[in-house]
Amino acid sequence: MMMNRNDYYKAIPKVDNLLKEESIKELCNTFGKGLVTVALREELEKLRSLIRTGEEEEICRELDYFTEELPEKVRESLSFPLRKVWNATGIILHTNLGRAPLGKVQMDAALGALAGYSNLEYNLEEGNRGKRWEHYAKLISRVTGSEGAIAVNNNAAAVTLMLAGLAKGKEVLVSRGELIEIGGRFRIPEVMEQSGAKLREVGTTNRTRISDYEKAITEETGAILKVHTSNYRIVGFTEEASVEELAELGAKYHLPVLVDLGSGVLVNLEKFGLPHEPTVQEVLKKGADLVSFSGDKLLGGPQAGMLAGRQKWIAELENHPLMRAFRLDKCTIAVLTATFREYLEEARAIRHIPVLSMLSRTKEELRMQAEKLWALLKEGDFPGELAVEPSVTMMGGGSLPGEEIPGYAVTIKPVGISCEQMAEKMRKMPVPVIAHMKNEKIWLEMRTIAPEETEELAEELRNFFLADVCGNRTHPGRD
Ligand SMILES: *Cc1c(COP(=O)(O)O)cnc(C)c1O
Repeated sequence: MMMNRNDYYKAIPKVDNLLKEESIKELCNTFGKGLVTVALREELEKLRSLIRTGEEEEICRELDYFTEELPEKVRESLSFPLRKVWNATGIILHTNLGRAPLGKVQMDAALGALAGYSNLEYNLEEGNRGKRWEHYAKLISRVTGSEGAIAVNNNAAAVTLMLAGLAKGKEVLVSRGELIEIGGRFRIPEVMEQSGAKLREVGTTNRTRISDYEKAITEETGAILKVHTSNYRIVGFTEEASVEELAELGAKYHLPVLVDLGSGVLVNLEKFGLPHEPTVQEVLKKGADLVSFSGDKLLGGPQAGMLAGRQKWIAELENHPLMRAFRLDKCTIAVLTATFREYLEEARAIRHIPVLSMLSRTKEELRMQAEKLWALLKEGDFPGELAVEPSVTMMGGGSLPGEEIPGYAVTIKPVGISCEQMAEKMRKMPVPVIAHMKNEKIWLEMRTIAPEETEELAEELRNFFLADVCGNRTHPGRD
């Protein structure tokens, strides 16, 4: 039977009536009547628009379920768009999930400086204007062993700043094997073009010798850049010039040697059973003039880009006009300072900085955690076949390419629904669970779930899927 669209319009509920519904009143208690009314109007407008243009079948379905589904939609639209998720992928530096997660110590230390006013640019001793980088520059130098340091928005900005500041209009020598793209459009040749420096390629893709650099030096040369190929590896018949060799060459021709290190590793990764990655301290010791590195990769801090090295170059960059555009805001300064403070004592850093503490967890610890989660889910009649299985994960964030990090996971083989369907349901949980699918199973990796959160995760999974199985369309845990 064809209905007239006008009949559909008549079926649209009135805002005033909706506001009298128990479930909507509850939302008003949480979010306030004003906001809820705005959200209700938006939902009603969507419904009207569907009636205007939609298919009959779709309109009927929507009208049938509208009132029932409304509280959930309103709650969804009023919740913070940026929110917590469970990272069950095992990838510690998941770029899509916010790269390095911050820990309590980092956040607590930062909070004190954030509420109200602070001495962001005020010199407390002299009672006059101070510099915002004084808060962290000394600390970074102390940790990395550099003469000076400066920090900007991210490593892409740090690389741009050092090229613009030290080699604008000049040629910068880079090995052909290091003309990398990091992702998100960060390509060394393009960054260089933006900075005003001219790219002078040397050597070949797989082999570049120190003599290749020396042959390319002319009156036009402004700097030598070495880029750590952080997200891929050249294997086989390869050769590259070492930082020591480059430093020697730079000294001979009075050229600054710049190293884009990518991930800012400050501890020896061999401690965690991983291959050695050059640390910032090592590269500086080998004679690099400036090293640039990210704050939110292996360093485990906030998004930022550091430049550490010779004070002479740092001083020049501090006064560069781009510095004003790239400078850190007070939130980042507070978290960054707190992060570097932990590094003053390595054991503390490993305990308090989540990226490091996750890396330091042993396979045995992960297995025990997986067994605990398995048992908790089992208890709740979870709708799927559950198992504890060994697994391997990656570091992510363009760090440690191809390096397999062993771990443990709880795997779920869904019953009655496909893996994709289950993964989708998990993404719609109040705190979404992001997991991998492999061999027709969902893998809940333990490395990126804090041990003390295991019970919470189990409870949320159990509640959600129990409610789902019982055909309860509304939120679990709200009753
Ligand atoms: C990740 C990376 C960058 C970009 O760093 P961001 O902090 O993400 O801007 C630049 N260079 C290298 C070598 C990298 O690995």
